[in-house]
Amino acid sequence: MRAAILAGGKGTRIGEIYPDLPKPMFPIAGKPLLQHHIEALALQGITQITLTVGYKADVIRNHFEDGSTFGVHIDYIVENEPLGTGGALAFLPREDTLILLGDVYFDIDIEKFIRFHKEKQAAITLFAHPNSHPQDSDILVTDAEDRVTAWKSKNDKQRGDNLPNLANAGLYIFSGDALPIGEAVKRDLDHDLILPVIPEGKVFAYNSPEYVKDMGTPERFAAVEKDVQSRGKRIIILGGGLAGISLAYFLQEKSSIASIDILEKENEPGGLCRSFQHNGITVDIGPHIFFSKDKETLNFMLTLLGDNKHELRRSNRILHKGSFIQYPFENDLSKLNDEERSKCVDAFLHNPYRDYPADNMLQFFLKTFGEGIVNLYLCPYNEKIWKFNPAYMDTQMVERIPRPPDEDILRSAAGETIDGYTHQLYFSYPKIGGTAAFINAFVDKLNEKVKIHTSHKVSSVQKSNNSWYVKAANAEFKGDLLVSCIPVNVLTEIYSGIDEQAAKCGHNLRHNNIIIAMATVSVDRAGDNFAFMVADPDVIFHRISKVDFLGENYHKDGTASYMMEYTYRDEGKKAALSDEELQEKFIDGLFKIGFVHKKNEVQAFTLKRFPYAYVIYDLQHRENMKYIREYFNRQGVYLNGRFGNFEYWNMDAVVAESRKMADGIWMK
Ligand SMILES: Cc1cc2nc3c(=O)[nH]c(=O)nc-3n(C[C@H](O)[C@H](O)[C@H](O)COP(=O)(O)OP(=O)(O)OC[C@H]3O[C@@H](n4cnc5c(N)ncnc54)[C@H](O)[C@@H]3O)c2cc1C
Repeated sequence: MRAAILAGGKGTRIGEIYPDLPKPMFPIAGKPLLQHHIEALALQGITQITLTVGYKADVIRNHFEDGSTFGVHIDYIVENEPLGTGGALAFLPREDTLILLGDVYFDIDIEKFIRFHKEKQAAITLFAHPNSHPQDSDILVTDAEDRVTAWKSKNDKQRGDNLPNLANAGLYIFSGDALPIGEAVKRDLDHDLILPVIPEGKVFAYNSPEYVKDMGTPERFAAVEKDVQSRGKRIIILGGGLAGISLAYFLQEKSSIASIDILEKENEPGGLCRSFQHNGITVDIGPHIFFSKDKETLNFMLTLLGDNKHELRRSNRILHKGSFIQYPFENDLSKLNDEERSKCVDAFLHNPYRDYPADNMLQFFLKTFGEGIVNLYLCPYNEKIWKFNPAYMDTQMVERIPRPPDEDILRSAAGETIDGYTHQLYFSYPKIGGTAAFINAFVDKLNEKVKIHTSHKVSSVQKSNNSWYVKAANAEFKGDLLVSCIPVNVLTEIYSGIDEQAAKCGHNLRHNNIIIAMATVSVDRAGDNFAFMVADPDVIFHRISKVDFLGENYHKDGTASYMMEYTYRDEGKKAALSDEELQEKFIDGLFKIGFVHKKNEVQAFTLKRFPYAYVIYDLQHRENMKYIREYFNRQGVYLNGRFGNFEYWNMDAVVAESRKMADGIWMK
């Protein structure tokens, strides 16, 4: 559809506000009224625009030229002689055309307006609504099917008082046949082009409460400017994982925010906090336990879950050559055979690396735990989960791990097991529904300001004139503020006009994906334990968890259900294996760790792949992220979430950051 904007008027009633400008160029909130129109049209896919210009035509032409800067194509009809409001329309091609008066401000869903016009098979559709000044507006009378049956002109002194408040707003759709033909003579749009068609029953009124205001007087102009300036901010959030959803939750109550659009590529929100069904049981993408050192955030998270939670005590083990070693490894050394135990203790007590600085993860492990524990467990396990050699990884993941006192290591070797990492010794979990219950608890509390657009994969992000334009699926979204919770290396790929160095840093960021395999077995050999770490490189998974541990709703009588986790890089060989080949490897792993003895013990199996599970803190991560963060900060893009920031954040860190960010944005 084409749009024609009648921009030739002189604006006699308000001309004195800006004597050097034609009325359609009067600035509203920092940009010409006509530019608001053109941007709104472009955003809603109308790119063929005709401007009818007359008074101070050059000012308009010089600003918009051929429209390419605004993403549209503009042609001009210049009225050398004033042709009234409708005369110039004779120059338009005979096609359906949206006609706008140049002194009317609008913020409407144009597509809906066009749909109405088509459904009614109208010759002309008028945008109509109740307004604040019906006494000096043209009033429409309609029948039950929205057909206009009478037009009560504001100039008709006899029209009476008992009229509906349904004013003609100044936006029209003309079908090609309803446009004037012949000579371009002076015509009045309403009088000469619309009124004669009303008796034919082909003029309809589209009655909508959306924002359309005429600015014909200085008072009305001031009112529109105030409305536009005080209109709340429209926020676009990329990614509907926990970061996007929790941020929307914290932002929605802020009065300065008008709308929040969350764009999510999957067909449901939640990201890594989604859950899925296996053999009638709800399971997560790796069991998501609720714990935190940040008590305030943890309380908030648990309060959100309401009654749907219970507390459990961790019972995690390290599977090492058939024995169950209590987690963490260094706290249960007595379970090792004599040779391994004495190696671990000896290397810990007489550690030649203790006084060296630790510049990478391997050095840190050697310095803190000694060669025995490192070679037996820490190195093989970390290589397995990261698919990256710890010698090439940064220390930021591990640098806060304290060196255990000598005494603790000696006690552990002597058979006294000590609980470590006590902040996660007790954890909470939803009684039903898995981690997705947490996401649902947020979603249930979102108000009408927030829209979650699922199946909307973001494909481009562009900043123009302080607004954000985001393409996702087949739609384009415009916002005043942009928050990205999608992986930042995806953002650097789709960000229009990105600086070369930022693109390079994004390209060099590394991450792991994850495969979750679920197996329900008829014999439970895991005991009353939850998760087991498996460092053995011959077993495909690095962790196996018995989901029955999480409560009665995650258990089926006479069975145990195991969740196995296997990380892979995009370019890794195993990623290319088929699901059947992988299934074989997972079941082989169950045999190797002794959890399955016969094939027919496995009653059900599910395998799922999920991209972006773990950030790899390789040696360049810090520098890459520093550059990227500073770049997007300068651009005014907010980064949020685990992969939005490319940090190893758990749910508590994501929620805490969302809350902090919501306050920051609100202050803007
Ligand atoms: C195996 C595993 C176990 C975990 N266990 C725990 C635990 O026990 N406890 C805990 O607290 N935390 C745990 N976590 C961490 C927790 O999952 C994360 O902290 C949290 O889910 C991160 O949320 P997010 O929104 O930042 O990221 P994500 O969940 O990754 O969300 C990003 C969203 O962006 C979407 N997206 C990506 N690209 C596009 C695009 N182009 N267009 C539109 N949308 C896009 C994705 O589909 C996704 O929904 C675990 C994580 C993993 C991987």
